[in-house]
Order: sequence, then structure tokens, then C-alpha cells
Amino acid sequence: MKQGRTSIVARVGLQFYRAGVVFLIALMVHNQYIRLQIDGELPLALGEVQQFLKNAAALKSDLVSTRTGMEVFDSKRERIGYALHTLPECKTIKGYAGPTDTLVVFDAKWVVCGVAIRRSADTVTHVHDVAHDPYFLKSWEGKSWEELSKMDLKRSGVEGVSGASLTSMALARGILHRVRQAELAAAVPPPFEWPGRVDWALFAALVFALVLAFTRLRGIGWLRVVWQIILVGGVGLLGGQLLALALAGGWTASGVAWRAAPAMALIAAVSVLVPWSSKKALYCQYFCPHGAAQELLHRVLPKNFRVRVHPSFAAGVRWTPALLLLMALGILMLGLAREFDLANLEPFHAYLLKKSGWVPIWIAIAGLVASLFVPMAYCKFGCPTGAILEFIRARGPGDKFGRADWMGLFLLLSSAWIYFDYERFRAWIDGV
Ligand code: SF4
Repeated sequence: MKQGRTSIVARVGLQFYRAGVVFLIALMVHNQYIRLQIDGELPLALGEVQQFLKNAAALKSDLVSTRTGMEVFDSKRERIGYALHTLPECKTIKGYAGPTDTLVVFDAKWVVCGVAIRRSADTVTHVHDVAHDPYFLKSWEGKSWEELSKMDLKRSGVEGVSGASLTSMALARGILHRVRQAELAAAVPPPFEWPGRVDWALFAALVFALVLAFTRLRGIGWLRVVWQIILVGGVGLLGGQLLALALAGGWTASGVAWRAAPAMALIAAVSVLVPWSSKKALYCQYFCPHGAAQELLHRVLPKNFRVRVHPSFAAGVRWTPALLLLMALGILMLGLAREFDLANLEPFHAYLLKKSGWVPIWIAIAGLVASLFVPMAYCKFGCPTGAILEFIRARGPGDKFGRADWMGLFLLLSSAWIYFDYERFRAWIDGV
């Protein structure tokens, strides 16, 4: 083995390490998303379930089915039931003044053994009347999951609590809606639909990018310029189709939208697999509209306008993508995506023009202006999406465990810390 070359076994191992890091982070983001959905803003406590299942000793988030509730176990780790609550899924079902979060506990045979009001935004007296009515909450006991999924309130003769009918009927509708939503999510997906025009155009663009990347055509200067103009105008400004953290975060959390956006799903898959297996930075060099825009702009000014970035400054700024990735992971793992839009960490939403917020637009403008003076400035010093794609890229014979691999490990451990110690983080956020 020549000095400076890494053995093939070590290189393959490194590539699997990188894929493993990305996979494990994605898995934790996904499971955390489901856990946050199950918990809502008020996680179920064991004591709530023990009112109805006396032997309950542990609750475990159901990460498998579409019911998004909690499995209930006894002290011998035997499954003895299932518990779910109706918020946030039923937040639009309002009684007199607001929605109600209802706990529904099933026994091991999926028969309701208890219903209780957890909290409510409805009028206090109405909620009190429903909670203390001797029949209403008890009337749900003995009904099976299947029965609830098909139940019609009118035909079943469900009547509201006198004086609190709106509140009680909203609670009833909430329970049925919650069960039906789970059934609908589990139903057979709609039949396959052929992709639309935009998707076919993107498929064609992907094929052309692959041809450019793997043939000598990539060496033809004018062809590259024409292709970059097409990427900026067609894929970027007309199509608004760019890989981005917001897209990756959404797909990782709730699943790849391959039915709604088959071309983007394929582009994402190919953009990960090609660099991982072949060393080619397919997306960054041959497909990204923002990369193409920077490369085009970099030719605009004469060479004497170029600015040389001081090495110590460059060494510091190069951490920006890693910091943004850490921030994005924190947002996803702590369920803060509604408060902090991931789209604001990158310029890519700016290609949606009027639909974009101002933050991505300013990041895009700053990056493009910088690229006039420093070639590919944003790609080198600011892009978290590019950092992920670069992280998984094979680097040939001299590939070694380097700075990015340590950073990947750090991000993995940070995600694991939040995942396994979530209660502490949540308490800290709630206290801020
Ligand atoms: S580094 Fe970012 S902006 Fe640059 S080409 Fe890659 S994805 Fe696009």
C-alpha cells in the first residue's frame, strides 16, 4: 500500500460509518417526531392510565402503528392495554368555547375501559358538568375500537350532557375522529398516479445531469454554461425544486412524499447514493440551481476583483454549516419546527419568489453577491445541505476519518442525548 492511501476495507468501512451516522440521525428524528405527536404538549402520565388499568406499570410510545398512542404494560412487561388522547388531532373540534383533550384507555382486547377529560379550552362550568355527569363518560366503556371506528353518534343515540351539550358532543366527536384518523392513515394508499409534467421535466433533468457527470460532456464549457442557465431558470425559478433542510427534515420526520413529489424523491435518493458510492458530487456540481447561479456569477467580474479569504478566517467560517445542522437537529428533535422554520436557515426557499419569506431571500442575495468575489462562497462556507451531501461522499484512495466524520459523530451523539433525555430538555425549554 502506498503511503497516503487508505486500504479498500477501511474506505468501505468509512462509507458505511457515514451512511450509519445519517441513518441513525434520521431514525431518531423520525421516532422523535412520532413521540412528539403522541405526547402533544402534555405527555400522558402513568397515573392517568392507572385510574382505569390498575396494573399499569409502564407506557411505551407506539412507533409502529398509525394509532399514535401508548402501549400499556404491567410489571411483568405484558401488554395490558393501549392509551391515547385526542389532542392535537382534534383541535379543530370545538365545543362551546374550545377543544377538549380526552384520554381514552383500551384493555388488551381493544375494548374501552375508561375515558377521562385531561384538559379543555372550553368553559370551565361546562367541562365540570361533563366530567361529573354520572353516565356520559362511562357510556363509552365496553365499546370496541372497531365499533368506534364505524360509530354514528345520531344512530347510536349518543346524547350530550344536559346544559353542556356542545362540550360533551365535541368530546364525543373528538373520540370518533381520533379513532377514524388512525384507521384512515392505516388504509390502503391511493392507487398509483402517473407523475405530472413538472415531474417528467425533473426526471429528464436528472438523467441529463447524470450523463454530464459520468461522460466527457462535462468538459464542454459552453454546454455547462447552458445547463447552469437551465438549472437556475427552469429547475430553480420556474420549478422551485431544490433539495433543502426543510424538505429533508419534513421527509425524515413524516416520511418521503414520493407519491406527491416522485421526481424530488428520486433526485434526493440519487443525490445521496451517487456521491456515497462514486465520489461524484452529483447534486452540488450538476443539479443545484443555487450552486449553478454562484458559478455563473463568479464569471461576471474580472479576476482582479477576486478576494482572497484569509486562511484563519476561512477555517472559522467553515464551521457555519455544521452549526446550522446542529441548530436544525435541535429544532426537529425538540419539536420547535412551528416556532423556527427550517427554511430560514438556507436560501433555497427564495426560489419560490413570492411564496418565500424574507430571510431565505436575504441569505440567497448575500450568498450570490459573495460569490462575485469569492468563488462558490456560500457552498464553501454556509450550506448545511451541501455539508450533508459532502459528508456522505466517498473521497477516493486518500480518504480518512476526518473533521467532518468527527462532526457527524458529534451530531449523532447530540441527537441521541436529546432523544434519550428529552424530558430534561423539555423542562428546560418550558422554563425559558
Ligand atoms: S453546497 Fe449547497 S448551494 Fe452549493 S451546490 Fe451544494 S446544495 Fe447547492
